[in-house]
Amino acid sequence: MIHSLSFLRTRSVIYYKFVLTIIISIYLLSAANLAAQEAKKSIPPAKIITEPLFGKDSERVEVVDQRLKGSLFYLVSGHGGPDPGAIGRLGNNILCEDEYAYDITLRLGRELLRHGARVYFIVRDPHDGIRSDLYLRSSKDEVCYPDNEIPLNQVKRLKQRVDAINTLYRSDSRGGYRRCIELHVDARETKKNIDLFFYYHEGSKNGERLATTMRDAIERKYQLKQPGRGYSGDVSTRSLYMLEKTIPTAVFIELGNINHSRDQQRLIYENNRQALANWLCEGIIEDFQKSK
Ligand SMILES: [Zn+2]
Repeated sequence: MIHSLSFLRTRSVIYYKFVLTIIISIYLLSAANLAAQEAKKSIPPAKIITEPLFGKDSERVEVVDQRLKGSLFYLVSGHGGPDPGAIGRLGNNILCEDEYAYDITLRLGRELLRHGARVYFIVRDPHDGIRSDLYLRSSKDEVCYPDNEIPLNQVKRLKQRVDAINTLYRSDSRGGYRRCIELHVDARETKKNIDLFFYYHEGSKNGERLATTMRDAIERKYQLKQPGRGYSGDVSTRSLYMLEKTIPTAVFIELGNINHSRDQQRLIYENNRQALANWLCEGIIEDFQKSK
């Protein structure tokens, strides 16, 4: 009898311990659940935007921060459509200015979008997204925003893109920081290599500041990544149709000499094209901060 009573007591102690363990577990689990829910609330889900111009592999863009919130860009890659721009040669390959300028323009636009900017691509290719190739196939199917065929005549071609930019500018009621950035690749005698350089419209204080800030950002990057290389890119004024006729402040950038071997390296390697886009974007972010 005594024996069986103590047995019963032991059993009930085990039972209570079991129930207690269950209750504590449920409490801990729900507390952990609540903490997880709180954590989810404090980290907003990544904002993804889609830009089909970048092509299937790159069209989803994750917005990483809002450093360019409130800014708007009109990005123009030089030439396009029936006009390939400057043409360089590397071995048996032909390098066309419009294709390299376009790829770097798309990459720059993607960086701007990642930091919360709004971006219009004025020259657009419905088929070529961001490309990783060394040699970018030349095509003539680029159009001008929104989808206008690009004329061969230079004056008509430039007027078409100025009209597109100014129409977009006028239709935008939000105002704020709006800039037009145009990318080109120069062509000069083979012997001469040229660093990235910048033009702005004479008398434009905002143009001068943007060009100078981008230039200085590029110089800092070269000092950091290729110490001892030096950088001689400059900023100057030039009477260019695109700089004179666009209502938003505009900066015109020459990315290199399509005929020089060192400059060709800057263009043909995907990583180099991306680095240029990143560096230019950093300069733009800096200029945007200065504008506030
Ligand atoms: Zn050009």
